[in-house]
This record gives sequence, structure tokens and C-alpha cells, in this order.
Amino acid sequence: MKTTQKIAFMLFALVASATALLAKPIPGPKGGRILTTDSPHVEFFVEKDRTVTVSFYDKALKPIALSGQVVTATAEAKSGKVNLAFTEKNGALVSKAALPEGDDYTVVVQVRDNASAKPKNYRVLFHDEVCGECKRAEYACVCDDAGKGHDHEKKK
Ligand SMILES: [Zn+2]
Repeated sequence: MKTTQKIAFMLFALVASATALLAKPIPGPKGGRILTTDSPHVEFFVEKDRTVTVSFYDKALKPIALSGQVVTATAEAKSGKVNLAFTEKNGALVSKAALPEGDDYTVVVQVRDNASAKPKNYRVLFHDEVCGECKRAEYACVCDDAGKGHDHEKKK
């Protein structure tokens, strides 16, 4: 079991350092979360009906047209994992189904530049509430301390 624990710790350390690199979150133009650190940027946005819209942007956050990207997502909800398939709609990729009930679960978004490209995975911790500071959805919060496990319940 020791090795398993070691691996788990190493993975945790990796994730922690990767998070530290993302000092300033980029605000997604639709109000969603930018998953990428480099362009082309990928935005994860949850609509009011809880379907997910994935949009692509250039360096200046100007929308870029779809060119065969393939997106799938897995919502790791407490009630069980739900796989979401995406279809093209108004120049973006929209999930065919809505996110499962509740929040505070991870959504793994898999993006492929085209059908035969290597997939890139992005993890989003989905929180339904609105951040009191930046007024964005919590999963897309762009406050400076975002990602450091900031606690919005605590008042300064
Ligand atoms: Zn915020």
C-alpha cells in the first residue's frame, strides 16, 4: 500500500504545483472558466439549463471558429459519473445533456483538436453558487486567491 500512497501524494503535489502556476485566472468571455493557459483557449461555461458550452478563443480572447475539435466531458457527481457528449451549436460545442444534480463535483473535460488528435484533459471543480467578490459563477471565479482553496464564507 505504501507505493500507492506515495503515488497519491506525488499526484497531489503535481496538481498543487500546476495550480500555483495559474496565478491569474483568465475571465472567460461568456462568464465561464478558461481551462487553458495558452491559446487557443478553451472556455467551460454552464448554461442556465445546466448544459455545458465549450468555446474556443485566440490569444486576444476573440472567438475562433470550430475546426473539427472533439469534446467530451465526465461529470463526477456524487450520484455517479455521467458522460456528456457535445454537438456543434452557434460556433461552439454544447453538451447534449445537462450536468447532474447538485454541485461540488469535478467535471473532466476532454478536448481533442480533431478526431485523431491526442486528447487533453482539463478538470473543473463545479460549484453552482456565485462568488461574492467577482460576481462570477464560483467554478469560474477569477479572484486573485482562486485555486488556493479560498473560503468565501470568511469575511475579511
Ligand atoms: Zn471570485
